[in-house]
Amino acid sequence: MKKIIFSILLLFFISGCSQKQNKIITEIEKNEQYKIGITYPITNTKLDKKIEEDIDNIVSNFKEKNKEELNIDYVFNEIGSYISVGLFISEDENNEIYTYAYDVKNNKNLSLEDITDDIDIIEEYSSSTLFTFDNEYFTFYDDNKQIQIPVSDINLKTKIEKKEVKKEEVIIPSKIIDPNDKVIALTFDDGPSIYTEELIEYLNKEGCNATFFILGNKVEMYQELLRKSLSYGNELGNHSYNHKWLIKLTEQDFEEQINKTQNIIKEYTGYTPKILRPTYGSLNNTIKENTDLDIVLWNVDTMDWKYKNVDTIVKRATKNLKDGNIILMHDIKLRTIKAVKKIVPILKEQRFTCVTISELKEINFLRDKMQ
Ligand code: ZN
Repeated sequence: MKKIIFSILLLFFISGCSQKQNKIITEIEKNEQYKIGITYPITNTKLDKKIEEDIDNIVSNFKEKNKEELNIDYVFNEIGSYISVGLFISEDENNEIYTYAYDVKNNKNLSLEDITDDIDIIEEYSSSTLFTFDNEYFTFYDDNKQIQIPVSDINLKTKIEKKEVKKEEVIIPSKIIDPNDKVIALTFDDGPSIYTEELIEYLNKEGCNATFFILGNKVEMYQELLRKSLSYGNELGNHSYNHKWLIKLTEQDFEEQINKTQNIIKEYTGYTPKILRPTYGSLNNTIKENTDLDIVLWNVDTMDWKYKNVDTIVKRATKNLKDGNIILMHDIKLRTIKAVKKIVPILKEQRFTCVTISELKEINFLRDKMQ
């Protein structure tokens, strides 16, 4: 019996950690006619109602058109008591931007005049009603042009708090892999979400590991959770930056989606993913020829994004369990977490070990050698 031991890795990195853990909502919808991928933040302010109304309108308008893809990405930042949200909407070739600025302290929407009394800035930019800001820049959007002004050049009416920087460490645990084990790989796409923490705690308690194909635009917000997930022995994979339909992209845009995600995961967790799951499971030559990452699909689809009944998801996951299967789920809905709590006991009863994709690959490699 051959066993391989994964060695302990120490990863050190620096991160800014003052940001509150807010929610990011992901909605994915696909059918023969169109693909919809949406990510947007919940700010826990009155802004949320407005943002959700706007998104509902965008989605229902899109569905009336004869278009292939709707994608909504976001930026979210806080400086002092100000919140800035930008929504970047693309419908096939068309792009549009929505921006929101809000003062948490005074519970009101902000115009540029509310933010600064700098006459020069107001005179020059108050005609661009679209703007976002972060700790470094104000960005004004005008007819597809972007103008950036350093925050330090603007006299703000709110006080900027310095971001706390602390050194973190992730210890990826060593594991013993036995090619004679019966194994299953649970995989979760489109996360993290507010449900992921409960999921990783449950899996950890059950001695299970899984693989999470995550979106780059959620990494900063869920950085602590991702570090914890790695420290439990789970694997992180790349699922694009904002769930663009990758087969529709040029080589350059495809590479940007992948590299931006690789970089942000590395920046916030110290870990570099080795695997890619293309969005909507669609694959073409641009994808195959322009990445060094291993492309991982699945052979069991729970369709948990579609079926709302927990037992239906459980049944689809477990009806035909085979050694080496890769099961597809999504950790963005509570029903999926409830289903996992029924799936794992069934796996254990049938003596399956839950492994990550890299462990599954290693096991397959060892089995091939043994033959
Ligand atoms: Zn997806």
